[in-house]
Amino acid sequence: MKDRQWLKQRLIDLEGHGYGDYKGIKGDYRFPAFNLSVDYVQGDPFAAPSRICLQVSQEVAKFPVRWITDYAAQTVIADYLTRQVAQVAQSLQQERGSGKSGKIKIAAPSQAVIRRSAVWIDSDGIEVRLTVGLPAWGRRIAGKAAAALLCDDIPQIVTNGLQYSALDAARMERYVQTFQDAEALRNQLTQRELVAFIPEGACLPRQSGVDERPLARGADLFTLPSEIPDEGVELDTPHSGKVKGLGIKAGVTLIVGGGYHGKSTLLKAIEQGVYNHVPGDGRDRTVSHPDTVKLRAEEGRSVSGVDISPLINRLPGARSSKNFSTTNASGSTSQAAGLIEAIEAGAKVLLIDEDTAATNFMIRDRNMQALISKDKEPITPFIDKVRQLYDDYGISTILVMGGSGDYFSVADTVIAMENYQARIVTEQAKAIAQADPNQRQSEGGINFTKQGIPLAVRAVLPDSLPPGRNGRSPKVKAQKDKMTLGYEEIDLRAIEQIVEVHQVRAIAQAILYAQRYYFESNRTLSETLDCVMEDIERGGLDAVDQDERRLGDLAMFRRFELSAAISRLRTLKTISVTKAY
Ligand code: ADP
Ligand code: MG
Repeated sequence: MKDRQWLKQRLIDLEGHGYGDYKGIKGDYRFPAFNLSVDYVQGDPFAAPSRICLQVSQEVAKFPVRWITDYAAQTVIADYLTRQVAQVAQSLQQERGSGKSGKIKIAAPSQAVIRRSAVWIDSDGIEVRLTVGLPAWGRRIAGKAAAALLCDDIPQIVTNGLQYSALDAARMERYVQTFQDAEALRNQLTQRELVAFIPEGACLPRQSGVDERPLARGADLFTLPSEIPDEGVELDTPHSGKVKGLGIKAGVTLIVGGGYHGKSTLLKAIEQGVYNHVPGDGRDRTVSHPDTVKLRAEEGRSVSGVDISPLINRLPGARSSKNFSTTNASGSTSQAAGLIEAIEAGAKVLLIDEDTAATNFMIRDRNMQALISKDKEPITPFIDKVRQLYDDYGISTILVMGGSGDYFSVADTVIAMENYQARIVTEQAKAIAQADPNQRQSEGGINFTKQGIPLAVRAVLPDSLPPGRNGRSPKVKAQKDKMTLGYEEIDLRAIEQIVEVHQVRAIAQAILYAQRYYFESNRTLSETLDCVMEDIERGGLDAVDQDERRLGDLAMFRRFELSAAISRLRTLKTISVTKAY
């Protein structure tokens, strides 16, 4: 293997050459404390930057074995190191020519602590994937600058960012403990028959609608509802002892309250409770069931072969609702499809906010029932199905509904938000509902599906993606709220539990991967999700990258987000298969 000295000389010799000559440095180099691989060389200083990979053995990194004992520990340490490397890289960065010359970057993490391909650590060592802008003036190689960048600066990432002795052990310990506490809290939910937990003292509001950091000033911390103390729950944590908080029970939960009193903020925190967060995030101990899915209406989306018949039936124009497809869903049909797709993917808790729901999907009040008879309304409102969903499928619902009291009668728990604080008002709400002489008629039947007949299940057919050029896979582009596969664009704005663009990139790769190995007429979409997620569990995120490029910008996602992205493909082809859920 060539070494650092060789690379340094080579780069200096390239001074003034045409940019294309950089291609020759692709390869592996032995540095005194690590190995450097140049995996991809950019075409010019303005193009997507070059990719490099550092491998540091534990003989150099010297992480105590007890820190990296299992998958969870490795995930959290890798996440910590990603943030550490980002800081060191930032400090090393300098203008070294045109375009991206001199830039050193690692895929930037969000507030969530998740597995990413940027850094991995195990008992052998640490692998870090970075991008660098190889320096040039115009198209002329700045060789000395490149030598300084790769041979002098990059080694500092190892000495200051990856060696245990250089790191703040106490800070890292707190980081690991926060993660382990959150995991422990989430793991206790099911046995306590809870679906979410918000601890005393949590800071739920965010800096702004586009900034996920905690609201720095004027945030009211979460306090326990005082009137019914046993609504509060105490859970155990390995590092912080008992933690008191509001446990949200399985079943149907309604969040009510005046406008601007913090309802959506609470629901959003529950939605994000599927992730663990960095210490100081304010939601570090706010956890929800891992299979919690946020649902919303999404007018205009594409739907392929979904059995929405429990919710919408007898569509005009003899359109099938057992096998519903459209390229332009309405608010209500999009929400119905989203709900069935969530069941299909295995959701256990659904979250719905009135702010983003279709009104006619949610309710049909007494006056409307009197005016428009049931046989002229295809929609069975969710209010008449939410209990059956729990009884038949064990799927809980938490919904925010400030504008209608009709849900009082179907809710197990009613939480009122008042000045950002929760009160339990179940008894009052039930009493009001019972005293109401003008009750609406329930239209939902006994079971979630008609006569308890199982939902139709769909399989994704092999040719469900747009073609790429020359028989290759379609080109992938990822943004936080949009992915492009070839000519096909998938709008992801409605998939609110995607928190990083790196997840979008990984999901895009996973779709290509599923298309190659798993989309088949006799495999249900749910089985396909199982297969893909298992492969990733076994082989890491790299498993879905067909070209083994050692991509550094992939992040872990859940089966629900993969399923949601697949389901929104406008090129998707599905058929119904006869397999019971
Ligand atoms: P609602 O859904 O009840 O109308 P939101 O949850 O959207 O209300 O909250 C309204 C505003 O109040 C938002 O700007 C939000 O950031 C802010 N907010 C929510 N909870 C808190 C809190 N605990 N402390 C301070 N501000 C909050
Ligand atoms: Mg709201």
